Amino acid sequence: MSTTEALLDNNRRYAEAFDHGGRPMPPARKVAVLTCMDARLQPERFLGLEIGDAHVIRNAGGRASDDALRSLIISSHLLGTREYLVIHHSDCGMLTFSNDDLRNELAAETADVSDIDFLPFSDLEESVRDDVRLIRQSPFIPADIPVTGYIYDVDTGRLTAVGGAAA
Ligand SMILES: [Zn+2]
Repeated sequence: MSTTEALLDNNRRYAEAFDHGGRPMPPARKVAVLTCMDARLQPERFLGLEIGDAHVIRNAGGRASDDALRSLIISSHLLGTREYLVIHHSDCGMLTFSNDDLRNELAAETADVSDIDFLPFSDLEESVRDDVRLIRQSPFIPADIPVTGYIYDVDTGRLTAVGGAAA
């Protein structure tokens, strides 16, 4: 059985026991979380979020990319979220390469991708501060939404606030 088939099997069992239908679209806790796609992060669990509670926006690094900002704007303007959390984490894959590394690798194998910024970083706390600032500075994000930044430790499950990232 392929992994996909196994997952679809899991879903059949999940749907059989599912009893959370009919909930409203706007997040009940009025909060949006921007975090990394890392497989060791389960934001709903480590933040105690239930179905319908929050928007969780994930990408490589949990970066405030154009697409993450797009989602945050929709989250607040159309769906009523009033607080944002930015959560990066220890041992992130984004600490392990540079734009030039990946661009050179892809250029050798496939195509020139020098116009793609993969948004890697070398300093975890700085990356959190940068992304909190980018969200804060977006003219499309309401100024009264608090944006706070954290680092999640993949070995302890604990969140630590990043100083200077509060806005
Ligand atoms: Zn990561």
